[in-house]
Amino acid sequence: MGRRPFVAGNWKMHNTLAGARELMRGLRDGFDTSWPVDVAVCPPNPLLYPMGKEVDGTAIKVGAQNVHFEAQGAFTGEISPEMLKHAGCTYVIVGHSERRQIFGETGQFLRKKVSAALKEGLEVIYCVGETLNERENNATIRVIERQLGEGLEASIDLSRVTIAYEPVWAIGTGRQATPDQAQEVHAFIREKIGGVFGPREAGEIRILYGGSVKPSNAEGLLSCPDVDGALVGGACLVADDFLSIISTAARTKTS
Ligand code: PEP
Repeated sequence: MGRRPFVAGNWKMHNTLAGARELMRGLRDGFDTSWPVDVAVCPPNPLLYPMGKEVDGTAIKVGAQNVHFEAQGAFTGEISPEMLKHAGCTYVIVGHSERRQIFGETGQFLRKKVSAALKEGLEVIYCVGETLNERENNATIRVIERQLGEGLEASIDLSRVTIAYEPVWAIGTGRQATPDQAQEVHAFIREKIGGVFGPREAGEIRILYGGSVKPSNAEGLLSCPDVDGALVGGACLVADDFLSIISTAARTKTS
């Protein structure tokens, strides 16, 4: 069986309760349950529980944007995997480039987060991606390889991991990777996973593209054979735009 498409929305630090409810209800009401696609929405932490309630009993799942690897303790400002689970999360994003760049999260740190989240039963969306400088210096593949190796221990249960390839230069910039650029990196990621985890794992793992995905460019990107869905930032803040990307994934990946 083919890989089921997956579209996740990263709200980043946007929305308070009233606006969040309106957005989530728009998404919930517009989502066609016959679309064969997995959907996750990742709101800021204070909205996880109420947004989970909004989509309770529907196919739309909630995820967090970050997690700490310790179970509890003196870690002011942090949230444990268990807390996310109890707040209703199915997914958690780990290694978003904003966490790596702004908050200085290292590969070693991210590896612990991935393992701790999986141990708690969360599904992980692990992000990798090169900067513009790295791409221009032909270092893209080397960087992706390093980030994969740093974050994903060979002993983890990869069936609960999704990888998101998000070129840093394409995030929030309106500048997307071309379908050829995305396909090249996605194919490399799949090959690399095959080498470390095995051919079955490589064939099954979902690899999302992220970086200025919008309704107008979704089809080209999602048509690539190794692109299994999208991680969407800006465009997921408008219900109709996010729904359009989800329906494009359902149509493109299953036709
Ligand atoms: C993201 O933050 O993961 C992202 C892809 O953002 P945008 O779609 O706005 O580029």
